[in-house]
Amino acid sequence: MPVREMTDHECMDCLSKGHFGHLACVKDGRPYIVPVHYAYGIDKMYVFSMPGQKIDWLRSNPHACLQMEERSDHGFWKSVVVQGQYHELPDSSEHHNERIHAWDLLQKRELWWEPGYLKPENNELTKSKPIFFGIVVDAISGRQTY
Ligand SMILES: Cc1cc2nc3c(=O)[nH]c(=O)nc-3n(C[C@H](O)[C@H](O)[C@H](O)COP(=O)(O)OP(=O)(O)OC[C@H]3O[C@@H](n4cnc5c(N)ncnc54)[C@H](O)[C@@H]3O)c2cc1C
Repeated sequence: MPVREMTDHECMDCLSKGHFGHLACVKDGRPYIVPVHYAYGIDKMYVFSMPGQKIDWLRSNPHACLQMEERSDHGFWKSVVVQGQYHELPDSSEHHNERIHAWDLLQKRELWWEPGYLKPENNELTKSKPIFFGIVVDAISGRQTY
């Protein structure tokens, strides 16, 4: 099955139809990757999370990579890679509107908050505030079978 490069428009179309990917970050030369749900915001991918390793690492090094794929019957697939920058949306007046925008986009999916909220039992986490952030798109690439 041959593979071809996707155009930017095709990549964005694929990202907008999807909501699940793998988010990678790096600290001290070591990579870390976790599955996350995202919401597509044209030049930014929005994610909801609780505090933890990925947030700590992304705060210390904002370079991030998000990969998602779409698979269809008969082995056809599309895969998109976004290189970007971590941009946290604190609960402040400055970020209020964008936080609401991220919320609006994310809440279109049922139980959107659950996978980001759940952690192995840790009472301290119940006191933690949820975090909204965006991955600001620097570069995008995609490949697909045809
Ligand atoms: C389908 C799906 C959707 C998800 N959607 C989201 C989302 O939208 N937002 C979100 O924040 N999280 C989401 N998660 C959970 C996410 O993958 C992480 O497990 C979670 O965010 C905790 O990451 P952390 O860096 O805060 O880990 P911490 O709780 O700080 O724990 C760090 C340690 O746990 C290990 N660890 C953490 N997560 C995983 C994992 N998934 N698999 C194996 N080991 C792990 C690490 O290797 C590390 O040693 C989703 C998971 C799945 C499977």
